[in-house]
Amino acid sequence: MELTLTPQDAEFRDEVRTWLHEHVRGPFAGLKGQGGPGTDEVPFDVEVGWERELANGGWIGLSWPAEFGGRGATLTQQVVFHMEYAASEAKNRLPNMGETLLGPTLIAFGTPAQQARFLPKILSVEELWCQGYSEPDAGSDLANVQTRAVLDPGGDGGADAGGGDGADGGEWVINGQKVWTSYGQHSDWCFVVCRTDPDAPTKHRGISYLLVPMRQPGITVRPLTQMSGGEEFNEVFFDGARTAAENIVGEVNGGWKVAMGTLDFERGASTLGQQLGYARTYQGVLTAAQRCGKADDAVVRQELARSYVGLEIMRYNNLRVLSAAAASGAAGPASSIGKLYWSQWHRHLSELSMTIAGIGGQVYGGSADTSPDVARNLTAFLYDRAHTIYAGSSEIQRNVLGEGVLGLPREPR
Ligand SMILES: Cc1cc2nc3c(=O)[nH]c(=O)nc-3n(C[C@H](O)[C@H](O)[C@H](O)COP(=O)(O)OP(=O)(O)OC[C@H]3O[C@@H](n4cnc5c(N)ncnc54)[C@H](O)[C@@H]3O)c2cc1C
Repeated sequence: MELTLTPQDAEFRDEVRTWLHEHVRGPFAGLKGQGGPGTDEVPFDVEVGWERELANGGWIGLSWPAEFGGRGATLTQQVVFHMEYAASEAKNRLPNMGETLLGPTLIAFGTPAQQARFLPKILSVEELWCQGYSEPDAGSDLANVQTRAVLDPGGDGGADAGGGDGADGGEWVINGQKVWTSYGQHSDWCFVVCRTDPDAPTKHRGISYLLVPMRQPGITVRPLTQMSGGEEFNEVFFDGARTAAENIVGEVNGGWKVAMGTLDFERGASTLGQQLGYARTYQGVLTAAQRCGKADDAVVRQELARSYVGLEIMRYNNLRVLSAAAASGAAGPASSIGKLYWSQWHRHLSELSMTIAGIGGQVYGGSADTSPDVARNLTAFLYDRAHTIYAGSSEIQRNVLGEGVLGLPREPR
């Protein structure tokens, strides 16, 4: 992929740069490197306020086609946006799962009525979404979900159950438990993978993909405190929760295909923005090492060099995956290379950052020797354990690569 900008792309870059410069102010100023997953240091109303600011500027749904209210940006423009964002003074993004996961899923698999009902409120950030996939006994083995949904034809499927005008009756009644549901406590809706046919011949069949309103008596959300201090994710209990019959994406018992479609978005382009900020994170660690004299230590120097080489490898890999995506329209299994690589690279960098910070790094907020970019040493170090787990653990990525890219024998099922 060439990142030589056409005149239109250069104009786009200038527009992004100017907009960010003009809008990172007021409550959004001075938050560079803060916010997003892992901590609660930025109040949630500021997190959402910034997403709405981006929405007002037309920056939410950048990759969505214009016919669905998106910006229809090319891949190059998306890369440009993420690079400009990383270089700006803006805070870390809230993982906006409506924008990055459910929206593209509805565009690919939803009915026109579902698209009309849900997409505009995702774009305006009026409704927040969470992902109801994992359960105590279903993580990597997602097909093992046990949360049950049964159709109650007597339910009126009205507004209380998230039904639209003209809902033709019937409601799904849901019982079970999800876990690790990020931002569940703040979300208005959840896309839930659940079992609708327990007698299906294989566990991948008999699964459906439901859109469930979160604010109802049948749902209890219990935040889990992470070791990095934040309460990003939750346990979510469904106890006779309801959603209108029409709030199913894809076929009844055909939800596995839809659920995998969502994961393709999760493992694909949506992690790109995150990685483009890493050059700056690396620079912060390097500056800290130089400032406190540890850059003269042979072992630290070697690790810094290793990180730098990793950064370049990551960049080339990304360009390769993006080129393939630009040519074929989908990142495919090769996007697992990116996930596997960046998650391990970033974990190594935060370990190195702790080594450089020394004893002071073990205090929240960092030591006096650290630059502002590594002031979140301890938080980042603790949170980075999560990178190799969510959105498919490293072992699962290796399986995907082995089977989908290298053509190795499939894992016994
Ligand atoms: C920060 C964070 C946020 C998250 N947010 C959400 C969310 O919003 N919604 C949601 O639904 N989930 C979320 N998750 C959950 C995440 O998707 C799961 O943690 C993940 O799928 C792994 O599942 P598990 O934790 O049950 O581990 P398990 O699947 O039990 O895996 C345990 C270990 O076994 C390994 N393993 C499992 N199967 C295989 C195999 N076939 N071959 C080789 N090794 C294997 C794994 O790699 C891992 O090391 C989040 C997780 C984290 C850390």
